[in-house]
This record gives sequence, structure tokens and C-alpha cells, in this order.
Amino acid sequence: MSIMNIISDFEKEKCPCGKTHTAAVEKIIIENGAIGHLPKCINEYNGKKAFILADINTYNAAGEKVCRILDEGGIQYSKYIFGEVSLSADEKAVGCAIMHFDNNCDIIIGVGSGVINDIGKILSNTAKLPYIIVATAPSMDGYASGTSSMSLDALKVSLTSKCANVIIGDIDIMKNAPLNMLKAGLGDMMAKYVSICEWKFSNVITGEYYCERVAGLVRGAVKKCTDNAKALLKRDDAAVRAVFEGLVLGGIAMAFTGLSRPASGVEHYFSHIWDMRELEFGTKADLHGIQCAVGTMYAAKLYDKIKNIEPDKDKALKYVSNFDYDEWSNKLRDFLGKSAETMIELEKTEQKYSVEEHKKRLDVIVSNWDKIIGIINDEMLQPTEAEKLLKAMEMPLKAEEIGIDENIIPMTFEAAKDVRDKYVLPRLAWDLGIMDELKQNICKAN
Ligand SMILES: [Zn+2]
Ligand SMILES: [Zn+2]
Repeated sequence: MSIMNIISDFEKEKCPCGKTHTAAVEKIIIENGAIGHLPKCINEYNGKKAFILADINTYNAAGEKVCRILDEGGIQYSKYIFGEVSLSADEKAVGCAIMHFDNNCDIIIGVGSGVINDIGKILSNTAKLPYIIVATAPSMDGYASGTSSMSLDALKVSLTSKCANVIIGDIDIMKNAPLNMLKAGLGDMMAKYVSICEWKFSNVITGEYYCERVAGLVRGAVKKCTDNAKALLKRDDAAVRAVFEGLVLGGIAMAFTGLSRPASGVEHYFSHIWDMRELEFGTKADLHGIQCAVGTMYAAKLYDKIKNIEPDKDKALKYVSNFDYDEWSNKLRDFLGKSAETMIELEKTEQKYSVEEHKKRLDVIVSNWDKIIGIINDEMLQPTEAEKLLKAMEMPLKAEEIGIDENIIPMTFEAAKDVRDKYVLPRLAWDLGIMDELKQNICKAN
């Protein structure tokens, strides 16, 4: 079934979860030579003049082709090509895009992947114009999402922008993307094992909304990707297609639920934390999806450990009564600099460290322990499976392989519970009073 058919299938009736799921994207074309459909798409939106946004890499990869196709189709356009070799999604880039924008244009075409798309979404939202993204790499799952992952005031933030009206995934273009970007795409898909697992047990522990149908959609997409993983390394058409479709579906699953739950869990927080540290301290960071893959590897090992634990109520209560939030806030500040303040602010409304709330959660955890373990067994990758997959893709297994100091991994894990208001593995570890043991185990497990 095509993705557009999946969307209309979900949209046509109320889901058993109680929601009517909708997605903003209007058209998705994934095939070899998909960019040939551009003139028709522009006409469908009554576009008279297109504004093309690309950077030098993506322009070489697909921008020139896009211009040629528009020339042949008799469609006028202006273009702005960022000159930076490594472009960042920040105020400067958005400012450049707006200042170079040609006001005679009535439709925007982003040619690129993560960064260009994030900027393009903001530009089209600001200009109130339809937006088409021509994907150059299946590297992350933001194609169908209505938010932009940006750095703002040197902080990593997720801004509400707008979802592309049309997504064009030309397999002939994407299969020639840098290999690291194909790997990153697979990494962002591997993360979904963790996200679905955490979403499902959070539903048990916190009563948070969960939709089995959306979870099933994501599971199916992940399986297609991992089944094809080896062929991805050879740039096989079907493998590239599976990853791109999976990433688009990941975005749609988020749109369906209005949550990041179906697509990101603790492994994404590992990645966010390393990005925050890069912004704050200039330490190394890698592509989002590569970091998510490494985060998934750590998560797989930690889940394997937690499965063998018997919850001990007294131990958990003692741990929590000894927990000093002010001391912890200062540790967060040392570790993350300015970014820590947003997390500390979040706790004021969230109150996840409230002793009373902890007691209630702990009761639920203890009485549902078998169920929680069952979810972990059903949903999580075994460490050996994760390792096999990463090795088959010639991907890194550890932080140090991507230039990140192995010594910060325990603190990364502990800080991951504060990144967003989501119940993820380190929160479960904290609730059980086993944070310190698990932390010590992370590096030993390697
Ligand atoms: Zn549902
Ligand atoms: Zn992601």
C-alpha cells in the first residue's frame, strides 16, 4: 500500500484508540525519477514562479536537475544556494533564506535533507506559501513533520513550522547520497524499537495515551528497513526506498498522534545531549541518525540488564528520599551549560521528582512488572541483534567511534531523563532506585 493510501485509510474513520488520525502532507511521490513530477505538482498549486532553496552539496546532488526540469516545463524560478560546506540550521541560515527570498515567487522548493528542509519549512511558514521538499538523502524522519529542529540562541530547539505539502523522494537521487547519510537513515529507524517500547510501557506506568495501530505501522516500517539493511550498503533501490518510506512514515506517525512518541525515545535524548554539548562546549557530534543508532546500541544493552532486575520497593523509596534535586540541577548545569536551564524550568511544571508521584508510579511498576518485562521482550532489540545490524551496515557501536568521550555516557544516560517530559528508560531506572547500578554498567557492558 502506498503511503498516501495508508494515510487515507487512517483518516477515513475513528481509530480504536479514540482519535481520528490526520496528517498534513498532501502528496508523496517515491519512485525512480520522481522529480520529473515537479512541474505538474507546481501547477497543481497554481505556482507561477518557484523559489529553490539548496546548499552547494544538495544543489549538485539534485538542484541542477530540478532547474533543468523546471526550464523544460516552462516554469520560472529564482534560487538561493547556501555557500557553506557544512550548513547549520540556525538564525543566520533562516535570515539568509528570508533576505534572499524573491517576493515574486509563489511556491517554495527545498532541495536537500535535514538542514535545508528545516529551513525551508520555516521560510514557507513565514511566507505563507506552499512547500515542496525534494529529498536528497533518506537520512532523518523530518520530511513529513511540521516542526524544524533548529539551534536558536545557541540552544537546540524544536520550532513549530509547517509540514511540506509535497514530498518528492527520487530513488535515483537518494541512492547516490553520501553513504553516511544512508546509514544515518537506518539509525533513525533503529531508534523506533526503543521509542515504541518506551511509549508502550509509559502507557502502563503513567497512563499516557498510546495507539497500537500507529505503533504497528511503525513496527512494520522498521522491519522492512532492517530486513534490507545489508542491501542499503550497496545502494540497492528497494533498500533505499524502504528506509525513505520508513522515515516518512515515522514523521506521519508523529503527525497522527501529535506526539514524538512513535519515533523517538531515550536514544534520541542521547543524540540531543551530544548536540547540546557541541553547541555549548564545541565537543564533537555526528549526524542525528548515526548518534541515534549508537544510542540505540546503549539502550539495547541497558534494557537487557533491566530485564534481570527484581523491583525492590524499599530500595527505590530510599533512593528517591536521598535524591537531592538542587545538587542534580547543578550537575546538569555543569554537564550541559545553558541547555540545562530549559530542563530545570520543565521540572517546575512537570514535578517528575515529586516523592508522592514517585510512590504512586512505583506501586504501578511493581504490580505490573511482568507486563513491563513482556513489553521489553516483545519490542526491544537484543544487544546481539543491534550489534549485528550495525556491523552489517559498517556503523559505529560506541560513542568513542564518533569522537564522543566514552566517560560521559553514564551522565548522558542519567541526564536523558530530564530532556523532555517523556517517560523513558532512565526514568524507570530512577523510579526503581537503580540509576547508579545501571550507569556503572553502561561502560562495563561494552
Ligand atoms: Zn489510533
Ligand atoms: Zn530522529
